[in-house]
Amino acid sequence: MDEIQLLKENFIKIFNEDFEHVYFSPGRVNLIGEHTDYNGGHVFPCALSIGTYALVTERNDRKVCAYSMNFKDLGIIEFSLDNMVNDKKDDWANYPKGVMKIFEDNGYKMKNGFNVLFFGNIPNGSGLSSSASLEVLTGTIINDLFGFNVDMIDIVKMSQEAENNFIGVNCGIMDQFAVGMGKYNNAILLDCNTLKYEYSEIDLKGYKILIGNTNKKRGLADSKYNERRSQCETALHEIQKIKNINALGELTEEEFEEVKDVITDPVNRKRAKHAVYENQRTIKAVKALKRDNLELFGKLMVDSHNSLRDDYEVTGIELDTLVELILKNDGVIGSRMTGAGFGGCTVSIVKDESVDEIIKNVTPAYKEKIGYEPSFYVVTISDGARKLQ
Ligand code: ADP
Ligand code: MG
Repeated sequence: MDEIQLLKENFIKIFNEDFEHVYFSPGRVNLIGEHTDYNGGHVFPCALSIGTYALVTERNDRKVCAYSMNFKDLGIIEFSLDNMVNDKKDDWANYPKGVMKIFEDNGYKMKNGFNVLFFGNIPNGSGLSSSASLEVLTGTIINDLFGFNVDMIDIVKMSQEAENNFIGVNCGIMDQFAVGMGKYNNAILLDCNTLKYEYSEIDLKGYKILIGNTNKKRGLADSKYNERRSQCETALHEIQKIKNINALGELTEEEFEEVKDVITDPVNRKRAKHAVYENQRTIKAVKALKRDNLELFGKLMVDSHNSLRDDYEVTGIELDTLVELILKNDGVIGSRMTGAGFGGCTVSIVKDESVDEIIKNVTPAYKEKIGYEPSFYVVTISDGARKLQ
């Protein structure tokens, strides 16, 4: 709550009035199931205790005045509800604007604008989905302010639509889903083919989720992401010539081994292999967790990282170094890259008492090899986007 007190002071300073409402939307981390979402497979993300806050006061006119504590240099960004187009100069504010536009396109008309101050305590562009957090937060705000009564699942879908069609990032549904539908101390097994999902309680008695940020900017991530998507699509089309499937996620490992030779390009074959095996690994990992077999869960996390490194080739020296260094320590159950890759974050499950030692050992060793330090966050699993006051 200290956070809100600090934000309140800023809100008053910036908008010359007090705030009326406070909202919070988490970031998310994917525990296992990477690059499976757009291949019609399973993912296993959870919402985090860190995320994005918003303080809001309604206005009497048609303006939205938005300020972000994370982009102070840009000051207040102002736009009209009557002209919601993606405008480069509005920078980050295109994310909330996009969600508002998609709501309007779906018939949810906002009767007036508002002042809003955002603050995120998740890093931007590091694979913890600050963008989805901001989008679902915006959907939650306008749903509440204007009494639209939209179910969270539809806020999730409209947020994804905003990211796909207004921002122009070709992301799957996982990020917005985890941020919106998250549940305290639960991860979500989501079938991205059918959108069927189930919560799985994570009882980390004696363990912590440790996020390590490589602090490597993602750079080429977007073009490589699109390349991986199209490599998997090509492989799928070749398999479809001999087997009736809609997505790689429908195949078991055995079925994949039977048909894999039809994929002509060996690189595409490796990509498809990852998609199939990672999906099956995710299902196995959730079963292991249900049986309280955290050791097996951790082993599958490491297998996931190795597959992302060798077959999918989306890790890079920074992520590989961080995972390797973490795994050298006592008390580490599992560790892997999380998010799209090429930089961004790792996720590890580690024993409570080992956290400090791991950070102490890994930080200088990483710096020596990579040239700069990583950052660490100990996180807990929280509920999805919601109104706080
Ligand atoms: P990720 O979702 O992995 O954090 P993205 O590149 O998809 O990375 O999204 C990051 C972008 O989202 C930021 O550059 C910014 O435009 C927007 N954003 C996220 N959080 C905030 C925030 N608290 N305030 C303003 N903009 C934000
Ligand atoms: Mg994002």
